[in-house]
Amino acid sequence: MGTPRESRQEQAEAIVERLEAEYPDSTISLRYSNRLELLIAVILSAQCTDERVNKETEHLFAKYDGPEDYANATQDELAEDLSSITYYNSKAGYVRDSCELILEEYDGEVPDTMSELTELPGVGRKTANVVLQHGHDVVEGIVVDTHVQRLSRRLGLTEENRPEKIEQELMELVPGGYWQQFTHLCIDHGRAVCDARNPDCGDCVLADLCPSEKGDSDVDLASGEPW
Ligand code: SF4
Repeated sequence: MGTPRESRQEQAEAIVERLEAEYPDSTISLRYSNRLELLIAVILSAQCTDERVNKETEHLFAKYDGPEDYANATQDELAEDLSSITYYNSKAGYVRDSCELILEEYDGEVPDTMSELTELPGVGRKTANVVLQHGHDVVEGIVVDTHVQRLSRRLGLTEENRPEKIEQELMELVPGGYWQQFTHLCIDHGRAVCDARNPDCGDCVLADLCPSEKGDSDVDLASGEPW
């Protein structure tokens, strides 16, 4: 078991520093070329891999050009164009309805506030945070996805389970200039080393800081269960 820093703030700072050195080019892996494409890619990425989304949006973004195209498509046609994505039927509805609202209420532009974005169908705080950060350069929260959730718990930054609660706690701990990057660093480390089922603690740059480290700790703090 590693030994966490004395305070959670210090722990968060040390984690950011180590992961930044390890993943200097860490950034969003969804592909898009404008705000609407970003919004759609993030809606589609819920419970689906970025890799799968990127594969599907390659032809989607070539076929549909702007909110009118999505709003004018039938539900069945759009669902068919998204058929390799998890929950493609519901997501086709979210994309269509969001585009309709964007045309009606926002003159065809993706809105730039948390409250307006979360009014769009299929858009929760996590999706809105990604769109604000990468589409509008507005960082007002921390995106908590499954990797951020798992790593934050494993590394002793939070004991909360709900993403909204975890986000609030992380905002107290992660240095202000790193809120956006923290998510990408956790995602990269979660994919490369600290995966859900079998983290490679023996090859982890955070091992000496991590209270879940498998060598000595009996418990995975992400689940609270024994390793
Ligand atoms: S890989 Fe192991 S040591 Fe590293 S952060 Fe994950 S649980 Fe901790």
